[in-house]
Amino acid sequence: MGKLAGKVAVVTGASKGIGAAIARSLAAEGASVVVNYASSKAGADAVVSAITAAGGKAVSVGGDVSKAADAQGIINTAVETYGRLDILVNNSGVFEFAPIEEFTEAQYRKQFDINVLGVLLTTQAAVKHLGEGASIINVSSVVTTVTPPTTAVYSGTKGAVDAITGVLARELGPRKIRVNAINPGIIETEGAHAIGVIGSDFESHTVSQTPLGRVGQPDDIASAVVFLASDDAKWLTGEHIVASGGLR
Ligand code: NAP
Repeated sequence: MGKLAGKVAVVTGASKGIGAAIARSLAAEGASVVVNYASSKAGADAVVSAITAAGGKAVSVGGDVSKAADAQGIINTAVETYGRLDILVNNSGVFEFAPIEEFTEAQYRKQFDINVLGVLLTTQAAVKHLGEGASIINVSSVVTTVTPPTTAVYSGTKGAVDAITGVLARELGPRKIRVNAINPGIIETEGAHAIGVIGSDFESHTVSQTPLGRVGQPDDIASAVVFLASDDAKWLTGEHIVASGGLR
């Protein structure tokens, strides 16, 4: 029996990339998984098909985490389909990099709306359904400590996620709900390809600074998320696991 048997999980932004790997890994450990997408229904449905083909349980649901009604709808899908909620993975996120002279208000609002407000709204919708032993995992980034040039807006959003993680660990600790963050280094995803990180000088410089000498793959993050979701991490809350091959 998997270590998450009987648990119900929501993974936001699970139509591709890191979120898709997290959804598959949680399901492989026995969790029933709600696979959220914003625009890629086909991607989310493919993740659901892979999970069910492997004998697991999953459903997909559309929704923009930066809209309160949508965030509520994502959480309602878990409760209506599986009757409970134990694990929330706030993974949805967008990244756009620009020098300080060039960033736009639109870039700021999009990234803060999805990366920060989305975490707050989805957690707000979820928390009334979470009980003792529940786990919230926020996908942050190593950028909050590495602080690479041109990432002021994006790193600002993830700095907020780190702070929110600490606050909610204290606020929800008395209810025995754990709240942790995982802070990946560069991970080879559709999103990382789309903005040109993969194959760039930034990638090769980052790899040169990474003790394990490569960029990460989505499964490198998914296994750490399974750990945080499980009772193996029952004494961890308010932690930030830097999953970056040693990059600091
Ligand atoms: P990705 O390949 O671009 O996938 C992003 C996911 O987020 C997609 O499923 C997308 O859904 C979803 N999404 C976007 N806007 C959304 C919204 N408004 N509401 C709900 N879902 C939304 O990205 P990724 O590289 O896997 O990144 C996942 C997370 O890891 C992000 O929080 C990112 O900041 C973080 N991270 C990534 C890296 C990296 O190097 N890749 C490093 C550190 C941290 P649709 O496709 O359906 O629109």
